[in-house]
Amino acid sequence: MEILLKNPENDHLMKILYAPWRITYIKWFSKKERECFLCEASRDEDDARNLVVHRGQSCFVILNRYPYNNGHLMIAPYRHVRRITDLGDDELLEMIKLLKLSIAALESEYKPDGFNVGLNIGRAAGAGLEEHIHLHIVPRWVGDTNFMPVLADTKVIPESLEESWRRLRDRLQALF
Ligand SMILES: [Zn+2]
Repeated sequence: MEILLKNPENDHLMKILYAPWRITYIKWFSKKERECFLCEASRDEDDARNLVVHRGQSCFVILNRYPYNNGHLMIAPYRHVRRITDLGDDELLEMIKLLKLSIAALESEYKPDGFNVGLNIGRAAGAGLEEHIHLHIVPRWVGDTNFMPVLADTKVIPESLEESWRRLRDRLQALF
């Protein structure tokens, strides 16, 4: 659903996309009162429940519970640190190695046409969880939508998270 709002600065109409699951996420996130879901997921042993698809030495790979697209992954260090400058060389190296393997797994399973990979550093950049750094990997298909609308998109996610979790965990296991 789209909502039109008038921009007070220039009277232009702005299109706002209504994204129900993002609102669920915001409610869920504020209810958690700043508990860190990445730390919880890394400590908990139930990888299926937490959607953790791979555990490395210093970093792990987890499916985004409120994805912008099928197979939207995040790579995070186990350590609860905010900034890329807080990471050691070992953590940085593993993060990039896991990026490579995650892209390989996504290519095998989903045949995307491309990827958006990035860090949202700080609230102004759209970080939902700014206290614990994480690298986003969003698979893209030609014609899905442009990158910026992806950030506030509403569309059908045809595959269940449980199915994505099983496919990507198995594929990453095979790659290691
Ligand atoms: Zn954390």
